[in-house]
Amino acid sequence: MDMKRLTYISNFSQPLARNEIERIGEVSVRNNARDGLTGALFCFHDVFYQVIEGEEQAIERCYSRILKDSRHKDIFCLKVEQGVSSRMYGDWAMKTVILEESGEAILVALRNMMDGLSSTHRILERYAPAEILQTMQKGRNPLSENSSMTERVVIFADILASTTLTEVLPAETMALLLADYYEIANAAIVESGGTISKLTGDGLMAHFETGKADSALDASIRIIHRINDLRSRAESHDPRKFLYSGIGISAGRVLEGSIGSDLRKDYTLLGDPVNSAARLESVTRKTGHAIVFDSRFRSLLRKERTLKKLGRYLPKGKTDQLQIFTIPEDAIKFHITSESLRKSIQSLSEPARL
Ligand code: FAD
Repeated sequence: MDMKRLTYISNFSQPLARNEIERIGEVSVRNNARDGLTGALFCFHDVFYQVIEGEEQAIERCYSRILKDSRHKDIFCLKVEQGVSSRMYGDWAMKTVILEESGEAILVALRNMMDGLSSTHRILERYAPAEILQTMQKGRNPLSENSSMTERVVIFADILASTTLTEVLPAETMALLLADYYEIANAAIVESGGTISKLTGDGLMAHFETGKADSALDASIRIIHRINDLRSRAESHDPRKFLYSGIGISAGRVLEGSIGSDLRKDYTLLGDPVNSAARLESVTRKTGHAIVFDSRFRSLLRKERTLKKLGRYLPKGKTDQLQIFTIPEDAIKFHITSESLRKSIQSLSEPARL
């Protein structure tokens, strides 16, 4: 019988005494012996490292109980092996090893390995797309997941006059300005239930489920309000005084998933709504409104709100015009033209350090 083997790492959610860890081991041995599962649970400081193997459905039932257990958090699935033909852990229903006390060389090596894995996990969390981490957390291998067609709201956000800012500001100052921008945008999008698909160097692409279109618009409005607030608090020579962002939003069918070669894959969205959102983002400069969206996105909005029609627009390389809209709010207007923004940035001969 082909089996599944799953390896994950997690952190204690609160300090656990030795007898509490032993209790986890006892319950695991009892349940796993019943369900024909074998494996090992290593525990070091506040980190668990566990391997479980056995019949696929039994593994999935056990892992879904483990995922819900409030005694640990930040569960990160390191490896999912399908079609496993023999057991690595013999008849250990769940060998539980607390690594704290032993100075034995092999255990010291194991401790170091767990420490390393735990920090690698924290690093990966910052760089890997949320969907990849979620797939791994569910105990599935992202490499064997197929891309699929789905409906999404797509957002493109970008910093205005970023080329001029990059020319004028020292690289370190520009990096800090970008960090402020990403912090604002990331918080607003994640708080509203969206996902950052990618960072584009001076902006980002994000997506929401179509049922969350209102949250996507609220997140975009919040980004602009927070940037306005940051600008109004900045001193006249502070580069934050010149931070403006445009946001384009569209919606529709996209291909979502890992796309690329066997050597390098990118988790992304492909399709017309992605191109439209990117084009609409650049239209914000022409309309003078920080947020611009099309009628496909507008048709998904359910909340009672006042919208403003900005007319028709023909995106570059397309044959059909898009009807475009914005929010008729003073705070959503750019009270500066791209030209005068560029001039103001260029006049920053000695920008204040952030
Ligand atoms: P019960 O026998 O009713 O409960 C299990 C025991 O755990 C009870 O004493 C209960 O009070 C206690 N308990 C459950 N949740 C909590 C909590 N949040 N805080 C304090 N005490 C709690 N289970 C397996 O079957 N196999 C495994 O390999 C396995 N590995 C685990 C590895 C880790 C790192 C952790 C944290 C848990 C693991 N568990 C494992 C336990 C699993 O999460 C479930 O608690 C368990 O499977 C429930 O078993 P049961 O339905 O028979 O519940």
